[in-house]
Amino acid sequence: MNVDSIQNGVVIDHITAGRAMRLYELLQLDKLDASVALIKNVSSKRMGKKDIIKVDAAIDIDLDLIGYVDPGATVNVIRSGEIVSKESIPMPETLTNVLVCKNPRCISSTEQELPQIFKLTDRENKIYRCLYCETKAEPER
Ligand code: ZN
Repeated sequence: MNVDSIQNGVVIDHITAGRAMRLYELLQLDKLDASVALIKNVSSKRMGKKDIIKVDAAIDIDLDLIGYVDPGATVNVIRSGEIVSKESIPMPETLTNVLVCKNPRCISSTEQELPQIFKLTDRENKIYRCLYCETKAEPER
């Protein structure tokens, strides 16, 4: 595909260099039928180097997940060849069904129908804790 001529799709820009593969996995882009381009180490005035992911399909992207893995990444939504929205994604306050609590006695482990909810408790150190038992999540590197 010509990655510059997406008509309907999503471009995730300003990804920290080296993070694109992790985002690709977590967003499960491998399961998509559409063309996906992962471009590594693009030179950037602001960042030195950055990664970019281009998806040639009008999919719903989990913005919380992007904000968790790489806060500051930019999501551009493209419809009919035009950028209709461009958003820098902050670190989310709450993560639902992104992380899984490792505490076997946590109510979210024993009650399978409960969503896995984590709250950001320390923005500087990127620490998320389980809403139910306050177990700390493994940090994303
Ligand atoms: Zn828990």
